[in-house]
Amino acid sequence: MEEIVYLNGKYLPIEQATVSVTDRGFLFGDGIYDVISLYGGKPFYAQRHLQRLRHGLKKIDVQLAMTDAEIMQVLQQLLEKNKAAPQQIFYIQVTRGASQFRSHVFEEVKPTFYARLQSIEPKDLSAGIKVITCEDTRWNRADVKSINLLPNVLMAQAAQKQGAAEAIILSKGFVLEGATSNVLIVEGDKVITAPLSHEILGGITREIVMSVASEFAAVKEEQISKERLLAADEVWITSSSRGIAPVVQIDEQLVGKGAPGEFYQKALGLYEQRIAQLTCS
Ligand code: PMP
Repeated sequence: MEEIVYLNGKYLPIEQATVSVTDRGFLFGDGIYDVISLYGGKPFYAQRHLQRLRHGLKKIDVQLAMTDAEIMQVLQQLLEKNKAAPQQIFYIQVTRGASQFRSHVFEEVKPTFYARLQSIEPKDLSAGIKVITCEDTRWNRADVKSINLLPNVLMAQAAQKQGAAEAIILSKGFVLEGATSNVLIVEGDKVITAPLSHEILGGITREIVMSVASEFAAVKEEQISKERLLAADEVWITSSSRGIAPVVQIDEQLVGKGAPGEFYQKALGLYEQRIAQLTCS
């Protein structure tokens, strides 16, 4: 079955979906994206993702004419036109659009809207993952989900080169987030994550995990120093595509006993219940 994507009002085979070389997304990384997970063909917390997309578009001053309902219709169409899978991601990208001349200064042009529904293979996380730490080299507005991801690309690549699954970003000795995820730690009976700021993306999975963790633990937003990270009983990373992943090694050091912890198992169980509620309704 041929894969169909959506681009600027058309449903096209993926090889035919092409954008202009004058598109500002191509020239400047001038755009915003978001990723929504689907389980059994049902989107998980779609409204929160669309709100975040709108937040980003507003911050970079792009006017998207499409409504949330129209974006969700695109998703429905892509579900009908592509093969079904138990777990999928809906990738949405909006760029400022194509303008005739390459100029940093922009005029208002029609935004480019691209969407793709991709199947993903859930990874076995039962043994936990290894991560590396790295210094922050990103721009100063990480709360905006910009398509300009060069620092994150290089961090993720450095992690992979070292046999790790993620890079945790530190700034002035404090944990911000992962290159593609948020970071939470467990200290005794507390679950702690860095407070929202311009230096981290407000992850939707972070929100869901804080909510499920509050059912069995005290959840706090506090600054986490590197020492605190390394001394934590448990460390988790969260993202829409991975859900919650237990970190068992940071650089050369084991986290706790070097195996996924008890709180992780509890949080995972409750997170999976939220997914089950979605697919039953
Ligand atoms: N931070 C960064 C830098 C990310 O790329 C992601 C993945 N989108 C996240 C955090 C997690 O966000 P979410 O839980 O909404 O997928």
